[in-house]
Order: sequence, then C-alpha cells, then structure tokens
Amino acid sequence: MPSPRLKLPVIQNWNCHNCGGCCKQHEIEITVEEKERIEKQRWDLDKSIPAGKPVFEKLGLSPTSKRYRLAHQEDGSCVFLNEQGLCRIHAKFGEPAKPLACQVYPYAFHPAGNDVAVSLRFSCPSVVSNLGKRVDQQEPAIRKIVDQVLPKRRKTPPAPRLNSRESLSWPDTLRVVAKLNQFFESKETPFQICLLRAISFVELIEPSRFETIQGERLDEFLELIFQATLQELPADLELDPIAPSRLGGIQFRLLAAQYARKDTYAESSRGLGRRIGLLQSALKFAIGKGQIPCLQERFHSVAFSQVEQPFGGLPAESEKLFFRYYRVKIEGLHFLGAAYYDIPFAEGFNHLALMFPAILWIARWIAAGEDRSNLKPEDVNEAMAIADHHHGYSPVFGLPHFRSRVKNLSRSQDNKKLIRWYSS
Ligand code: SF4
Repeated sequence: MPSPRLKLPVIQNWNCHNCGGCCKQHEIEITVEEKERIEKQRWDLDKSIPAGKPVFEKLGLSPTSKRYRLAHQEDGSCVFLNEQGLCRIHAKFGEPAKPLACQVYPYAFHPAGNDVAVSLRFSCPSVVSNLGKRVDQQEPAIRKIVDQVLPKRRKTPPAPRLNSRESLSWPDTLRVVAKLNQFFESKETPFQICLLRAISFVELIEPSRFETIQGERLDEFLELIFQATLQELPADLELDPIAPSRLGGIQFRLLAAQYARKDTYAESSRGLGRRIGLLQSALKFAIGKGQIPCLQERFHSVAFSQVEQPFGGLPAESEKLFFRYYRVKIEGLHFLGAAYYDIPFAEGFNHLALMFPAILWIARWIAAGEDRSNLKPEDVNEAMAIADHHHGYSPVFGLPHFRSRVKNLSRSQDNKKLIRWYSS
C-alpha cells in the first residue's frame, strides 16, 4: 500500500525546544532491534554515562522476557538525557538513531479511512504554547516517522463506532467529525458556548439511527441538528455559573484527581506505599473537604474550598488555547476508536468535553497555591500539560469505572454545569 495521505492540523505549530519534559515523564519501551542498535552505539565506553550504569532495564518477571525499556537516572529522567536537556543519542548519532517512540512524541497518528489523521499531545509545553513552525509545513519530516510507524502490509481498519449501537462507513464517520469540529471554528462565539453546543449536538447523535441516513442525506441531517444547537445556545447567551449536583461534584473531583496525577517513572516505582497513599487521597477527593491531598510535588497545599470560589473567568489567551486544543484533538481523531480505548464517537467526545473543567480545576489549584483567586494563562497552560499527559494513554481512563463516571456526569447534565462553574 502506498504511503497514506496525512491530515495535518492547520492551526498548530510545533518544534521541540529541548525542555526535557518528555524524557522525565515517559517510560520508553524499546524493540529488540532498537536495543541492538543502541548497543552498537557503545555507550559502555562513553564517559557521559556513569560507569557501570546500565542503559536498559528488563521488563517482566520471566527470565525469558525480551522486553526492555530505557533506564532512568536517580531523578527519574531518561539515562540518555544530558545536563543541557538534550538526548545523548540524538546529539551523537542524529534523530533516526533514537527509539521510534522518542521520534514520534508529541505526534499521535490515527487511522482516518485510508488516510492518517495527525494529532499532538499537549503534555509537551511547546505544543501548548504553539511554539515553532506550522505543523502542516513539516509534512516531509512527519511522513518519515509515519512510514516507520505503519505496518508494511496494512489494511484499512473499520471505522470507530458512532454511538453505543451503530457504526458508519469511514466517509460518513468523518462527515460527523467534521461537523463537530465546525463548532470550534467560530471566531465570535465564546468558547464555553461552542463547547456546550458541541455537547448538545453529540446528545442528539447518541440516540439517532443512521441505517437510512448516509452520504448527502447525512450532511443534511447534521446541518439540521447543527443549526438547532446554534438556536438553542445563541452566541450572546449569558452563562451564569451553576454548581454541579452533590453527586456530580464527587464524581468530578475523582475524575479531576486522576488527571492531576503525574504517572512518571519515578512516581510509579514507589510501590505499595504509593498505592495506599492514592487510595487515601481518593477518599479525601470524594469527601471534598479540608486540604486537597498533594498528588504530585508541583502542587501546594490548598483547601478544596479555595478552588471552588469564583476565579473571574477565563483569560482571553486561554480561550484561544482551548479552541486550538479541541480542534487539534477532533481533527486528529484523538478522542475515539483506536486512539481512545476503542470508545465510540459520542462517548469519546463526552470524555473530551470534561477535559475543559478538569484543566480549569487543576489551573485553579495551581493559582490558589500562589494565593491567587484569578487565573493567569500560564496556570491554564501548565494544567493542560498535566491533564493531557493522560488523555488516551493512561489505561485507567478506558476502564469501566472511569467510563461510567463520565457517563453519569453526562446523563445528569452535570458536565454542562461543570463547564459553567469552573469557567466563571
Ligand atoms: S516535552 Fe516537548 S519541547 Fe520538551 S523535550 Fe519533549 S518534545 Fe521537546
């Protein structure tokens, strides 16, 4: 099969600025071929790696296991990260000598029929801050990575399910996704209204039956419900804050706590003590009173009540960031199917919609830690990088208890209240 067409985001810039963040956050599992390639680089003779320090760690308990990952330094960073924040392999042998996972980050590639949709991970601060060259102008470099990622003999996978019952063809699935994306293309409407409109649109898709609605008829149907949501939620609608229900508040705090964690190599290697600590934290998050348990070193001790006070609205810069975030995730199909725990379109978008209040909840925690009750764009940027680290990658987000938490928040309409409450 020839190299696929790439669907690249047109509103996103990116180049690596060597902050070293990804080399501290991720465990890099390598293939046998990558291990052999790195062995040939003779790091055992290189004085920059402490003598006797292995550069690989074996995975799995079986003595015959052939799974390996790159080793880590005492502070949790990759063994190849140098003092200047650069990768030693990259600096000495060039980018293609690195493991493929390191070359791919922060890109994410998802099947879109015969094409490949390209998304980005906002856990990279350069993605959040939109630094570097336009992504759609970097196609040759991205294609080289895509060609390594895709199996040589690939088949077009089935389209992700649309709702709990139905699947459409790939062209029709992409029609629905494009219509959803249209809500975030508006330049005049406040972001919160665009998001609420998109949720209403998805609520109408969820119970619909599409056996006889395909192709152009589907376009007509989508336009009809698109227009209905614009009428239901006009651009000048006053959005007063509405508090979520008590149960909704509990479910949301548990969800936000999951996003606020930092599952780095250093954190995950703390063992049983850490797991007990996480259980105790979960209990405190469910109660929601007193001090918020510090889930990672970044957070200061603040009371739950401090993040629930009004924060004076969303900074204009952050509003632009959220528009870009949602467009990159939707156009890159980074919320459903193969990219997102095999979850259907409607349910996947409900997860994505809750990223907005979850990010703002974390941003409030960061701001409250500095005795502020207003948000700065830097708070939201950092909160997005923390939360998006998990989106589509931490296995827990695809587990039944997490999925039912999102379903409950959507069914009870608490998702809409949370959007209004945390953006006020
Ligand atoms: S987190 Fe982003 S900017 Fe930082 S080193 Fe990784 S890819 Fe580069």
